[in-house]
Amino acid sequence: MNTHDILSFLTGADDDALFADAHEARLKVFGKAVYIRAIVEFSNVCNKHCRYCGLRADNRRLRRYRMGARQILEAASLAAAEGAGTVVLQSGDDLGCSMELMGELIREIKARHDVAVTLSLGDRGLDEYAFWRECGADRCLMKLETTDRRLYKRLRQGEDFSARLHRLEGLRRLGYEVGSGVITGLPGTTPADALRDIVFLSDLDLDMIAVGPFVPNPDTPLAGCVPGSGLLANRMSALLRLLNPTANIPATSALDALRPGGRALALTRGCNVLMPSMTPVGLREDYVIYPGKNADPLDGIPSLAPARRTIEASGLIPSPAKGFSPRRSHVG
Ligand code: SF4
Repeated sequence: MNTHDILSFLTGADDDALFADAHEARLKVFGKAVYIRAIVEFSNVCNKHCRYCGLRADNRRLRRYRMGARQILEAASLAAAEGAGTVVLQSGDDLGCSMELMGELIREIKARHDVAVTLSLGDRGLDEYAFWRECGADRCLMKLETTDRRLYKRLRQGEDFSARLHRLEGLRRLGYEVGSGVITGLPGTTPADALRDIVFLSDLDLDMIAVGPFVPNPDTPLAGCVPGSGLLANRMSALLRLLNPTANIPATSALDALRPGGRALALTRGCNVLMPSMTPVGLREDYVIYPGKNADPLDGIPSLAPARRTIEASGLIPSPAKGFSPRRSHVG
């Protein structure tokens, strides 16, 4: 597929063919399996100022929390007991979580459960990531959010895109499976930006690639901006599937925030991963990167049941597998 074809699909030339081909491609590699990655959002403390994100340090309206070790381990145990093959430990850029504590948590989770552990902890040092890898962590998520260097700098308060990219490459060298991704429909972007994102992400040879539509948060400087489009996110994920047939591609929760049922639809358009929150009720409501995140209906305790229902309603099968990327032979 050349760039002209990609742009033409991005602007809706033939959605039916694109989505059917993407679904066919995912069935060929993964069958009907959908991997479940259970996320424990253990801290919403963040020292950064990303203009699109409700966890930004200057959002004084957000009630902050940091879970204790026992609570984190309990949430991981619940996820494993419910059949998640992966536990994702996620937080803001929270320097209050020490390297040693994270290492202990990773060791404990790996000792107690037969699960993969993914880290989504932001811009911590590569020395810390090396330590956590030794403790048993398997994967890292390091989103780029946009591949437009100038936009990146503007949205992330002067941060350097190259430094983020360097960290991502460093994680791969440490032996992690590496995932990244973008927000589509950020203010001022066009289908040409989506094209650049697709080509850039494909060139990175990632194990996991995520595309979520922009959802404006009223407590950020981007409040009132026009939301992104779930359909454009679907088109991007479908194109990424065709260009990266063996990559894991999640149906992102922002799709549901824009339109209920958005993730279910994405699972029939090339996506093969679902990442439900297993953060305790009473805290998950405060992990508000954007409104509508963690909106699964729950009855008191977090559960993977809504995710399973979403998968089955799409005619697919929830998989308890760790779901390592078939792109490379995992060394963990
Ligand atoms: S995107 Fe990440 S680093 Fe930026 S403010 Fe939100 S949680 Fe913090």
